[in-house]
Parts: sequence; C-alpha cells; structure tokens
Amino acid sequence: MTDCIFCKIAQGEIPADKVYEDEQVIAFPDINPQAPVHILVIPRRHIPGILEVKDQDRDLLAHLHKVANQVAVEKGLSERGFRVVINCKADGGQEVYHLHFHLLGGRKMNWPPG
Ligand code: 5GP
Ligand code: ZN
Repeated sequence: MTDCIFCKIAQGEIPADKVYEDEQVIAFPDINPQAPVHILVIPRRHIPGILEVKDQDRDLLAHLHKVANQVAVEKGLSERGFRVVINCKADGGQEVYHLHFHLLGGRKMNWPPG
C-alpha cells in the first residue's frame, strides 16, 4: 500500500524508533502515547484490520502476540500487567488501516474503556 503510513514505517521510508523487528513484525512507540508505555506492534505485510485476518494468517497472529508479550516483558510490564488493544473501524476508534496491536502499560487502565 503506497499511501499507508505503517507500510512506510515498515519499509523505513518514515522513521520510527523500533524496539523490535524481524522479517514479519516490527514494534515502535506510538507518536501520541496514551500511557507511559505505548508501543505499536504491527505486521510488515499490509492487512487493513482485524476484519481482514484470514485462516492462513494464523502463524503471523500468533507471532504478533508473542512479540507483544516479549516487548511487554522488556518494558518491565509483566509484574503489574498491561493492555493490548486492536481498534476496528469508526466505532472502535481505528485511524490507521494497517493492522496493529496497541501495547499500553505503566499506569492502571480503565474498564470499561471510554
Ligand atoms: P488506531 O487509532 O488506528 O488504532 O491507532 C493508530 C495509532 O497510530 C494512533 O495511536 C496514532 O497516535 C499512531 N500514529 C499515527 N501516525 C503515526 C506515525 O507516523 N508514527 C507513529 N509512531 N505512530 C503514529
Ligand atoms: Zn500498510
């Protein structure tokens, strides 16, 4: 996707201070953090959102979870906990249509979310 901001970050066209990267997945801080730790974990491949996840993406989705787990531990969140969020479309608050996990921690999260 040529006009997708997260594809551009994945391809290095837009800089991001990556905290994790491999062939399939990257993680980097959100530009507008909503918590002391706010990391985005994304597949390099363009998937618009959770509605477009297919059966054949099973391994990739498992890997995204494992990377979120690993980054959370590295950021010191494993003892007190954290939240992982996927927003979907307008009511979910999705602004960037490239699948991403928000990893949020370092403060008590509210439930239910606003
Ligand atoms: P969404 O609302 O789609 O679930 O989340 C998109 C997130 O991407 C937002 O939290 C927003 O702050 C973040 N974001 C948008 N553009 C950029 C960018 O260029 N760099 C980074 N690091 N984060 C971005
Ligand atoms: Zn994309």
